[in-house]
Amino acid sequence: MLIEVKGLCKIYGMNHKTVEALKDVSFSLAEGELVTIVGASGAGKSTLLHLLGALDHPTSGDILYRGASLFSLSDVQLADFRNKNVGFIFQFHYLLPEFTALENTMMPALIRGYSRDEALEAAESILTFVGLKDRLTHKQSELSGGEQQRVAVARALVLKPGIVLADEPTGNLDSRTGESIFELLVSLNRDLRITVVLVTHNEGMASRIPRRITLTDGRMSRTPEPSATERKP
Ligand code: ADP
Repeated sequence: MLIEVKGLCKIYGMNHKTVEALKDVSFSLAEGELVTIVGASGAGKSTLLHLLGALDHPTSGDILYRGASLFSLSDVQLADFRNKNVGFIFQFHYLLPEFTALENTMMPALIRGYSRDEALEAAESILTFVGLKDRLTHKQSELSGGEQQRVAVARALVLKPGIVLADEPTGNLDSRTGESIFELLVSLNRDLRITVVLVTHNEGMASRIPRRITLTDGRMSRTPEPSATERKP
């Protein structure tokens, strides 16, 4: 298994004002799966995605990544885990406006210690995959909303992560552009065999994803885990 989520609980706040955002959530994700997390606003979707990406610690429970416990790692080791294994895509792209598409995409590789040439090659290759071969030297203001989000997808992929976590990545786009970003995420899974977890409010998109995890007030609906053959999209 790529990921095993075991009895995850997350309580925010302290003393008398607490919110139980996740209640005893357990499931597993196989390598190469495409999964959507759905639920009403406040159901705990972002909290779960952040924990999957080790951006936060659970109150109790654990996540095993390729069999190893994540939350027994130190903060430095967790940062290394994120850098090596996880690509994040958010609703807002958080590109650095003064840098080009190429430079934004190279950034994680440079931080990781790639040489400039290696980072350039990796960034060019992934920007070509996301359809931006002709936009390499454009800055944010010279790119459409959909192109900006494609750069964010390329940046999330440049270090070839095992898993991509996408939190409402089409939420800020018009429906046609959103659809093209959705199809790009599906193609990452289908063509590059990357495990993709997508949080979305868009039922049309969610219904086209082979596996769904539904959260209601922090609790997962009791749906059976797919068998090995059903996991393949
Ligand atoms: P969703 O992504 O499904 O909208 P969230 O995971 O953002 O839900 O939030 C789940 C619950 O936890 C909500 O009640 C929210 O208000 C609360 N919550 C989220 N983040 C925090 C935080 N940093 N501090 C306190 N409460 C939070």
